Amino acid sequence: MKPVCVLGNGQLGRMLRQAGEPLGIAVYPVGLDAEPEAVPYQKSIITAEIERWPETALTNELEHHANFINRDIFPLLADRLPQKQLLDELHLATAPWQPLTSAEQWPELFNQLGEFIIVKRRVGGYDGRGQWRIHPGDEQQLPAEIYGECIVEQGIPFSGEVSLVGARNRQGDCVFYPLTHNLHQDGILRMSVALPNPPEALQQLAEDMLSKILNKLNYIGVMAMECFIVGDKLLINELAPRVHNSGHWTQNGASISQFELHLRAILDLPMPKPNVCQSAVMVNLIGTEIDIKWLSLPLVHLHWYEKEVCPARKVGHLNLVHNNHQALQKSLSTLSPLLDEAYQYPIKWALEKLS
Ligand code: ATP
Ligand code: MG
Repeated sequence: MKPVCVLGNGQLGRMLRQAGEPLGIAVYPVGLDAEPEAVPYQKSIITAEIERWPETALTNELEHHANFINRDIFPLLADRLPQKQLLDELHLATAPWQPLTSAEQWPELFNQLGEFIIVKRRVGGYDGRGQWRIHPGDEQQLPAEIYGECIVEQGIPFSGEVSLVGARNRQGDCVFYPLTHNLHQDGILRMSVALPNPPEALQQLAEDMLSKILNKLNYIGVMAMECFIVGDKLLINELAPRVHNSGHWTQNGASISQFELHLRAILDLPMPKPNVCQSAVMVNLIGTEIDIKWLSLPLVHLHWYEKEVCPARKVGHLNLVHNNHQALQKSLSTLSPLLDEAYQYPIKWALEKLS
């Protein structure tokens, strides 16, 4: 098996490495400031766990490497402006949006998009950072330097959020997981629930949308598409050209995890559709200290990233998987007093999804 170098050494790189191990695939997540000589990239397939990177000795070296899969797609999707333009070109629905280039646009923007507008930095935002929620009058508070650096979107009164995680290989075959329901708080993913039999029409719609994108880009590997549900339609919120937080449940809830699927796709290995026959809940651990008591619950799979615990930082996740919803509900209810206040509404939300 060919080794794989992953640009970026956060939790996604770590979980790609873990997924490679049983298959005998050596995966090397590398920090951006690593010395190029210390990285075995010449003999490797190269992928990334991040969409955007500063210029360093290593990124300069890797960026020009023919084995860097999807190399030219990262800059396109890392910037919300060309990403939205791509979706428009493919006639895929998004929240109505506009580039934000000058403060003079505001009256017209409120006119066009309504009284709840979200300003998003074109590049560099994540976990809800680099965003402002604006009602008329709030625009005065925006820093002057953001004009030209942002887009604006209509605030969508969605009934829910889902994501579709799928993969495409070099031959153009695509496979997908069932839609994942996602609950965000303050712009950060808190909890996901995936059911093995999602509504057929919605699943098909999402698969058609993501296939169109994957094929247009000639993309290889795992991509995630985040959507808002509005009526029986999906609006695409954003695309992530990598393994994605909302796919973490696949580590314990699918026959092939998203991490293994990505490795299979980029290494030209067989890529059957992952089998999913149980329901799964993923709890993101955000700024939460590890608690050994979680492990007293038999359904809990703890994935701890060994990062320093800071507020609003993703430091691990819990996966709970079972084919019996009552068993899952019981386990979530037992877990609830072992987690702080911020998790209580998300747990209620997940219990409802399982009812
Ligand atoms: P992440 O990297 O965690 O996915 P992000 O910082 O890239 O997040 P978005 O995905 O754009 O940001 O937004 C985060 C969340 O904010 C969304 O999942 C959704 O809950 C809310 N949100 C974003 N855009 C809109 C919108 N146009 N209307 C309503 N809610 C929105
Ligand atoms: Mg998002």
